[in-house]
Amino acid sequence: MERLAVKGGRPVRDRPFPACVTIGEEEKRAVLGVLESTVLSRFLAVWGPDYLGGPQVRALEAEWASRFGARHAVSVNSATSGLYAAVGAAGVGPGDEVIVSPYTMTASATAALIYGGIPVFADIDPETFCISPDTIAARLTPRTRAVIAVDLFGHPADMDGIMDLARDHDLTVIEDAAQAPGASLNGKPAGTLAHLGVFSLNYHKTIHCGEGGMVVTDDPALAERVQMIRNHAEVAVKARGVKDLVNMVGWNYRMTEIEAAIAREQLKKLDRLVAARQEAAAYLTGRLEGTRGLLPPRVRPGVKHGYYLYAMRYTGAGSGIPREKVVAALVAEGIPVVNGYVEPIYLQPLYQQRIAFGRDGFPFTYPGYTGTVDYRKGICPVTERMYYDELMYTGVCHAQVTREDLDDVAGGFQKVFGALEEL
Ligand SMILES: *Cc1c(COP(=O)(O)O)cnc(C)c1O
Repeated sequence: MERLAVKGGRPVRDRPFPACVTIGEEEKRAVLGVLESTVLSRFLAVWGPDYLGGPQVRALEAEWASRFGARHAVSVNSATSGLYAAVGAAGVGPGDEVIVSPYTMTASATAALIYGGIPVFADIDPETFCISPDTIAARLTPRTRAVIAVDLFGHPADMDGIMDLARDHDLTVIEDAAQAPGASLNGKPAGTLAHLGVFSLNYHKTIHCGEGGMVVTDDPALAERVQMIRNHAEVAVKARGVKDLVNMVGWNYRMTEIEAAIAREQLKKLDRLVAARQEAAAYLTGRLEGTRGLLPPRVRPGVKHGYYLYAMRYTGAGSGIPREKVVAALVAEGIPVVNGYVEPIYLQPLYQQRIAFGRDGFPFTYPGYTGTVDYRKGICPVTERMYYDELMYTGVCHAQVTREDLDDVAGGFQKVFGALEEL
């Protein structure tokens, strides 16, 4: 075996891996078309023909709804805005508990706070890294109002089980599918498996328009409320005839015509881009399966994984070598691998100090909140194990990546894992 690069040997790979580029001539033409029209956004915060946006925005929404088999799609300027609007539409208010994942992009938990809700963290499943019916059930209280489940890394959460639980306990479920466009569960697209689904179109996601997002739902009342929150709800409720004023306080979450035009072109590429990710992942898993001390991503029966990231678990195989050393050795071999993903969200200063809005600890200290939420270290042991000890991921899993690139990735893993004891 060749000497490890961390020990002065030659790295497996001495040049960078290809960047993930999805923007091409189609998007350039689409942008120019909008510029030539001179209408860069047609939204107006007045109930009337322009309240729901211009031609590109509306066309994107229709195409999105059709591609994903949802009755309604409402565009927004980010998935963060989409999550906030979804929580608002769900009627969450001060003191309501919202069960969320601790192992996700921060906004999937913050969304609960925006309406004065109390994020309650459920642990993740060690195979899918998503919150599960069991871990959610363990956190239910009479105050639970909603659940935000994340399809982490592109693997759908067990949404069938979660929706069963929601039915029994009268909860609204929001599926954060920011990382999972093109993934599916039993043939049904990720993002359409709950009452509301949210997608991201930010630069780092599978398809993007710079910044953007989409909310989908089959419920016309929820769709209407998301539309209202997107565009200064309070000024339009009277004219639109919206009687229930709960959370009908609006923001400006509107997408421009330029972003919508780009997103329309990106949507056409989605199936191809996801298929390329699945193909790359399948090849990599084929090469890495059986490596001592490493567990490639699991895919549950009935699931098509979106592979936003290729996430693995390091089990050490009794070597006692910490993950950090292994990841450093992989990086030295020229293989881009990252430790741990994000810190469990409840360990953020916001939750540790319980300071969110104002100086008095709202919403945690809201007198109408009768619960006792726990944010101590240790509340989600699987999440902490993944973050501190086991999880590592690579982003070398997309349409620009060649077989040769994947062979280098696999070669780097085999070299390092074949010499764990030397680290
Ligand atoms: C990226 C991401 C978001 C936020 O998306 P934006 O469009 O950047 O606001 C939310 N949730 C998850 C799981 C994400 O990965």
